[in-house]
Amino acid sequence: MSPEEFRRQGHAAIDWIADYWASLDELPVRSQLAPGDVRRLLPASAPEDAEPFDAVLDDLDRVVVPGLTHWQHPRFFAYFPANSSPAAILGDLLSSGIGAQGMIWATSPAVTEVEQVVLDWFAEALRLPEAFRSDGPGGGVIQDTASTATFTALLSALHRASGGEARVSGVGGTQWRVYGSTQAHSSLVKAAMMAGLGEDAVRTIDVDPATQAMDVDALRDAMAEDVEAGLRPVMVQAACGSTSTGAMDDVAAIAEVAREWGAWLHVDAAWAGVAAVCPEHRDHLAGVEAADSFVTNPHKWLLTTFDCSTFWVRDRKALTGALSILPEYLRNAATESGEVVDYRDWHPQLGRRFRAIKLWAVLRTYGVSGLREHVRHGIALAGHVADLVAGDDRFEMVTEPALSLVVFRLRAGDEQTLAAMEAVNASGEAYLSHTTVNGVAAIRLAVGSWRTTLADVDRTWRALQEAAVSHG
Ligand SMILES: *Cc1c(COP(=O)(O)O)cnc(C)c1O
Repeated sequence: MSPEEFRRQGHAAIDWIADYWASLDELPVRSQLAPGDVRRLLPASAPEDAEPFDAVLDDLDRVVVPGLTHWQHPRFFAYFPANSSPAAILGDLLSSGIGAQGMIWATSPAVTEVEQVVLDWFAEALRLPEAFRSDGPGGGVIQDTASTATFTALLSALHRASGGEARVSGVGGTQWRVYGSTQAHSSLVKAAMMAGLGEDAVRTIDVDPATQAMDVDALRDAMAEDVEAGLRPVMVQAACGSTSTGAMDDVAAIAEVAREWGAWLHVDAAWAGVAAVCPEHRDHLAGVEAADSFVTNPHKWLLTTFDCSTFWVRDRKALTGALSILPEYLRNAATESGEVVDYRDWHPQLGRRFRAIKLWAVLRTYGVSGLREHVRHGIALAGHVADLVAGDDRFEMVTEPALSLVVFRLRAGDEQTLAAMEAVNASGEAYLSHTTVNGVAAIRLAVGSWRTTLADVDRTWRALQEAAVSHG
């Protein structure tokens, strides 16, 4: 592709994205295809001869779009929306265009230093503890996902608890224990599996049935019992905003218990943490001052195209102690001076793209006030959904609304609840997902897109009401 052709196709690609967004309202939110439908439209082998880039764009419409569930659709309310935004997309494109590999400071100082500054800004916007700032003992890094952040936190915790033994001779011998509530994200168990502890190392703690928050007395008893039995608590995870219902664990109370046994405290605020840009929602993070690590995902609610997961630690020595490794071919004066951060020591992989640009672009083009507005808009729409639920006696709330997440059901029962949700999803009108809370089925409606309006919420509600007539 010549430079002129690159410019032409680049404009065409941006036009394609803008047209795609403009078409979303008319498209079914959830893909209607069956397994194999997309594969069948693709040739068995790569083309021997070069094709023009236009052919790729044509196939987006012909092959790809029908096979998409439209995550940027204004009526996408399933799971947690993974927001994109024009600023983030352009930032991502610039990162690709620069094409730098920022594994260590020396391979492109700007990749590291912009990221440090952007994470300091973001930590300040969320009012995270001073210790998390890059000029203190801690610091932040962009991970691909919260799952990787949690895995990294566990490796750091093992390093600290083992006095460095874990990286040399592995985790064998000691019977390590990891704690989270029954509502903890599945990435906690996966982290234990990947760290070689095994899933049995995770002890799940019951929750208060009303709030779905961890029962901290039960945590205290479990840890004492385990220590008594010769096990070693290594990490406790508190969730600010559980995936199922948005439940908020009491971080301060959990921190006190974790401290008694010297366990690492990791706070998983993957979805809800970003709401702390609003002063009125900062109290969900109360107690984070005592956390050893914290993760939240701008790639969920905060307009930053997947993937972008921001992770901070109080003391980076545990993290780099667990993960640093310096092969001869990466030796350099800057690293040896100790004056720079080499991000390859902050996550499992070595290489990394210029990850900070898209978050930098989002923070600058929205401004923190614009981000507050976005978060408040989502919460207001969720409040409207809660009012609609209260106004129709065929429906009932299952838990209190949590920020922009509403969890509700049909009073008629589980089967009817799931059938009504599936009817809406199958129609393509909107997309919702489900969970179970205290053993009953519930519908989750998570607001988050930058394109969702009151009219979208009302339209989704009408679809649900119609489904309730047939399935209630
Ligand atoms: C979404 C979510 C995760 C996992 O996020 P990834 O970035 O996809 O790994 C972890 N914890 C909670 C509470 C979540 O909501």
